[in-house]
Amino acid sequence: MINFAKTIQDKSSLIGRAYDFSKTAHANQKRVSGESYFSHPVAVAEYLAKAGMDEVTVTAGLLHDVIEDTPETPEEIERKFGSDVRFLVEGVTKLGHVKYRGEAEQVNNIRRMILAMAEDIRVILIKLADRRHNMLTLSALPPQKQKRVAEETAEIYAPLAYRLGMQNLSGELEDLAFPYTHPEEYRWLIEHVRDRYEDRDKYLRSIRPKVERALREAGIKPIQIDFRAKRYASLYKKLQRYGTDLDKIYDLVAFRIIVSSIGECYETLGIIHKIWPPVPGRIKDYIATPKPNGYRSLHTTVIADEGRFVEFQIRTQEMHDQAENGIAAHWAYDQTKGKNEKRTSFADAKELRWVQQLRSWQGEFTDPKEFMESLKIDFFKDRIFVITPRGEVIDLPRGATPVDFAYMIHTDLGNQCSGAKVNGKIVPLDYKLQSQDIVEIITQKGKKPSPSWLNFVVGGFTKKKIRAALKERRGGMLQENPKSELKIVVEEGIGIYKDITATISRSHINILQIQSNKEKGGRFSTMKIICDTADRDKMSKLVLKLKKIRQIKEIEHRPV
Ligand code: MN
Repeated sequence: MINFAKTIQDKSSLIGRAYDFSKTAHANQKRVSGESYFSHPVAVAEYLAKAGMDEVTVTAGLLHDVIEDTPETPEEIERKFGSDVRFLVEGVTKLGHVKYRGEAEQVNNIRRMILAMAEDIRVILIKLADRRHNMLTLSALPPQKQKRVAEETAEIYAPLAYRLGMQNLSGELEDLAFPYTHPEEYRWLIEHVRDRYEDRDKYLRSIRPKVERALREAGIKPIQIDFRAKRYASLYKKLQRYGTDLDKIYDLVAFRIIVSSIGECYETLGIIHKIWPPVPGRIKDYIATPKPNGYRSLHTTVIADEGRFVEFQIRTQEMHDQAENGIAAHWAYDQTKGKNEKRTSFADAKELRWVQQLRSWQGEFTDPKEFMESLKIDFFKDRIFVITPRGEVIDLPRGATPVDFAYMIHTDLGNQCSGAKVNGKIVPLDYKLQSQDIVEIITQKGKKPSPSWLNFVVGGFTKKKIRAALKERRGGMLQENPKSELKIVVEEGIGIYKDITATISRSHINILQIQSNKEKGGRFSTMKIICDTADRDKMSKLVLKLKKIRQIKEIEHRPV
């Protein structure tokens, strides 16, 4: 890892020269806070060095505002520091300081970010370090601006960092934004949580020796055992989900154990479960199935002494570094690979599935508003992680259905989707998938999507794909309204048709078509009624009312 303080003294090094160059270039500038401007690029570069980034990135960090804010040119930077540094500095400059010229401008910023990311992820890492320091110094800005910058940080930069596996930075950005985006909630939390944190801390301290002793007896020497207090921003998110009951949050402060090998991770898990029983459903093996952002760890919640819930996170040093710094750690490990063959299972940035998705998706949306909505819903909302039969992890928005899953894999799979199995059992297509579900799509060749799917899919991308397929089917004709078919087996009798049609119209449903086939010589007819709605609730209520008609023997409905 680069020792920043030492390297800037070395005037023959790239970083040392960039330090002096940037200092001179920004010499007469001040930040809004009154500080010298130069303190900003220094803070950014220092952070990048600490995150284990390479020399070129740290150098570019020092120079990241030079093109934008001083008379120096890209050519000059290339001449003095090489073409890689120029590329990164220009990349960051192009991303632009987000200047809030309305939504369209913001969308363009994100687009530029995505394209830059696809070219060289280091541009984004510099941008994130830049944003982090701007958030640390946000109090110097006028309140109006504070709120806007904080909102953007929470909505775009923090999730972006998370997706790049930088949990630590992501959490930090969220926490920095939180007091500005939710001032009242922040005050409430500070007031109510502080005592609990202290109490919790005391309790964990009291059970810690038990954990240490058990590990020692098993011959495991942990590299580190500590407690991690939940961040205010993520605590607030949890409270929103569970209601404002702080007692229901088990991991207000969690134990973190770092051991030497993967084998020891599992051993440690076993040892902890031997001391205290685990809470069912709370054991998570992110080592066998890493999160899509690369996060690996074992999590468990146990019922510890005095019946209190305690969360444990167990991982190796390498996993820990990656959890803290994500992509940046990957870079750091990659550089040392030649020397000590430290391999990492972390996906290469360019192979990260979602980076590819972002890249191809952003090309598909022509309407900025639609793109922004889709981006927010599809990428930046809460995610679930499901698994393909081949063991690939796919992440989807919370509430996603098998249809969303199918379209995420491939448009054809979505279009031809006729059923789904979750964990080996057939489920309806509107089934809400859960994390860790193994999902298998059953296809039918030549099948087309049903308009009714639009009522339950959650992804903006899925909806777009379904609409496109439906449009194709109609040869580009005007969009038809979704419909349902009622199939009724009815005993013939006077006035029965009138009873049925009257019940339907009392439910404010229009009949588009009626067909009736009488069984030869029998008493029963099969009716097929096409109704003008595909609303499942509405149709189910109608069916309940129709079932009260004595002559109806069988009834079912389906969207068509
Ligand atoms: Mn900057």
